Amino acid sequence: MVEDKYISDDMVKKTMEHPCYNCAGHKYARIHLPVAPSCNVQCNYCVRKFDCPNESRPGVTSSILTPEEALERYKTVKAKLPNLTVVGIAGPGDSLAENYPQVKRTIELIREYDRDVTFCLSTNGLMLPFYANELADLGVTHITVTMSAVDPKISGKIYKYVSYMGGIYEGDAAGAIMISNQMSGLRMLLAAGVICKVNIVTLKGINEHHIPEVVQTCKDMGVYITNIMQMVPVKGSAFENLPMVSNLEIGKLRTECGTIMKQMLHCRQCRADAIGTLDNDISVDLAGFAPEEKG
Ligand code: SF4
Ligand code: SF4
Repeated sequence: MVEDKYISDDMVKKTMEHPCYNCAGHKYARIHLPVAPSCNVQCNYCVRKFDCPNESRPGVTSSILTPEEALERYKTVKAKLPNLTVVGIAGPGDSLAENYPQVKRTIELIREYDRDVTFCLSTNGLMLPFYANELADLGVTHITVTMSAVDPKISGKIYKYVSYMGGIYEGDAAGAIMISNQMSGLRMLLAAGVICKVNIVTLKGINEHHIPEVVQTCKDMGVYITNIMQMVPVKGSAFENLPMVSNLEIGKLRTECGTIMKQMLHCRQCRADAIGTLDNDISVDLAGFAPEEKG
């Protein structure tokens, strides 16, 4: 695990003020800017939806923003929330898929406006080896990769398909591509000094016994923290009938894996347009507002 002593003072400060990278950061707010609707894989548990202000989970947003609209929303929210420290890009698709140019432009526009804000991005990791160094150069200091397995046979059961370099892959081949790119991308980020978190979705009967191995792999690579999450079955997804692991089972897994490395215990599985502190998400209140109305 990366120890704080190996991180620059600025990175320690940014990490301490990031509500998702340490539980002491709960007084700080983040804004997710939904600028990346497309995705390059289909996870068997995912249904992405827009226009859903009453539903709170990853992949849900009320609208998709252009980079310019994202900047306006950032300015508006920053004026209202002085404790806003983090701009996150969490889809609602994948940040590094087809819409990556919009993601990049959003980061550039906000960076021109605010030299201090922390940029955070989440990805399935498929395109990470292609963009890892560029993201570090853009000043993205915190990146989350969802990697729920490190065995191609297990990973292959998580994705309905993976669309990569003009081909469509399924099963073991999909799993092998995902793991290879997730791990090499993470290694590139870590070598560039980016603080990395790995999200692990617990899928009953598929990966729950394999999770300690995923966590051990993350520790060996130098990942800062892992976040073992429950899969919430979503109607219309391939895993809609897969039972959820219980809170007790998740608790036991987190305790076991906590002996390996630092665990996130306070993830709220936020919307792609979440705004506010983790305890007080105001995205639904602001959903659908036109930036010029509030700016
Ligand atoms: Fe959904 Fe994210 Fe999986 Fe894409 S990578 S299918 S957006 S969960
Ligand atoms: Fe933080 Fe979890 Fe919400 Fe992402 S989904 S912003 S990691 S609390």
